[in-house]
Amino acid sequence: MTQLKDDCFASGDELMGLDTALQRLSDSLDAVVDVETIALTEGVGRILARDQIAGRDVPAHDNSAVDGYAVWFDDLTPGGETRLQVTGRITAGHPLDRAPRPGECLRIFTGAAMPTSPDGGPDTVFMQEDVEVDGDHVILPDGLTQGSNRRFRGEDIKTGTTILNAGQRLRPQEVGLAASVGIDALPVYKRLSVAVFSTGDEIRDPSDEAPEGCVFDANRFSVMGLLSRLGCDVTDLGILPDNLDSITDALKGASAKHDLLITSGGVSVGDEDHVKPAVESLGRLDFWRLAIKPGRPIALGTINGGNVSDTVFVGLPGNPVAAMVTFMRVVAPVVKLLSGEPIRPPHLFGVTAAFTHKKKSGRREWVRCRLEVADDGTLKAVKHPSGGAGVLSSMVFSDGLVELPEDQTDVKEGEQVQFLPFTEVCP
Ligand code: AMP
Ligand code: MG
Repeated sequence: MTQLKDDCFASGDELMGLDTALQRLSDSLDAVVDVETIALTEGVGRILARDQIAGRDVPAHDNSAVDGYAVWFDDLTPGGETRLQVTGRITAGHPLDRAPRPGECLRIFTGAAMPTSPDGGPDTVFMQEDVEVDGDHVILPDGLTQGSNRRFRGEDIKTGTTILNAGQRLRPQEVGLAASVGIDALPVYKRLSVAVFSTGDEIRDPSDEAPEGCVFDANRFSVMGLLSRLGCDVTDLGILPDNLDSITDALKGASAKHDLLITSGGVSVGDEDHVKPAVESLGRLDFWRLAIKPGRPIALGTINGGNVSDTVFVGLPGNPVAAMVTFMRVVAPVVKLLSGEPIRPPHLFGVTAAFTHKKKSGRREWVRCRLEVADDGTLKAVKHPSGGAGVLSSMVFSDGLVELPEDQTDVKEGEQVQFLPFTEVCP
């Protein structure tokens, strides 16, 4: 766990490109959470805290890849059939309890250990389907190459190799691989604890009434959902009243118990925007002017709540699409870095644009799109008819975002564009 610097978000006033912003975050943020040991069954979605080294070979012994018959290749008649007596039986988990002898043919099953002796051992396995059984003998066809149907010790993993790296987010296959070398518990970073709240006199909880001029709070729910997807422990702080003292008290209380506080909307400089002065009275707040659309300045700060590490504060734009897209492209990296996961550029996939679009040069822009299969079998990106930053149904319509680079000024139908699936940023 590291102590963040108070000025880790110092930015100056200049318009910042997304790549520069992400590089700065990467340079200044580190895991703020402790390490705990968990059972493998709890591992999926967690961030590994230490490299894992294999303590054994996998497979641990040469074994048969099929149900069949193990023989010495040298015993086979070149260019013809071979008839051999079956002199033993080896099943998975029950190795041969004596040394094998040249000239033998051993019944063997998938996964059973190939027997060895100082003179070697059977090296080739015939599939049972290819063999004719005649009493206690088998007739083996010609044409099999030496070593067929045999799996070699260590062909998956060799003792001493690093099988998993610190900082990796564990998927089912990583957990399975740890199990395959006999690891039954893993050191992982504790879940980042994040509190989410909304402010704004017009914002109402969906369980309440929404009189004229009010809107139901969408952002708190979409942001909490994104955070859960990233493996955070999420606290719902509800909607805070537009009042400096209550916001200051709530932020102070929450910062003592959380690693990160996130709000949306109201972080501008209007008379009724109390989040900015509240954060400033408890720590420091910087506004990052990012060259992106959608997304307005994003507020990044630190609050010293008296806990070991400063608590990070993030103020997202209020418009529901801007809040989600900014979260995915800027805040998800913050969450990952604080959780112990280094960030990498997301994988974008080339698809055909089924739309035309105009944009300003000098900023990165995202177009909400659904993927459909084109007549030629490739994927095409279909744009939602509305580009409004408040139209949340466009996110429901979409599978992801077409990401347009800074220098691009338009998209023509049929052109190749880069598609960012939502699952790539928030699994
Ligand atoms: P603001 O950033 O506060 O100026 O808000 C921009 C727009 O987003 C306004 O139309 C707000 O009503 C709306 N908005 C702010 N917060 C939320 C929220 N939690 N849920 C839905 N809409 C919101
Ligand atoms: Mg507002």
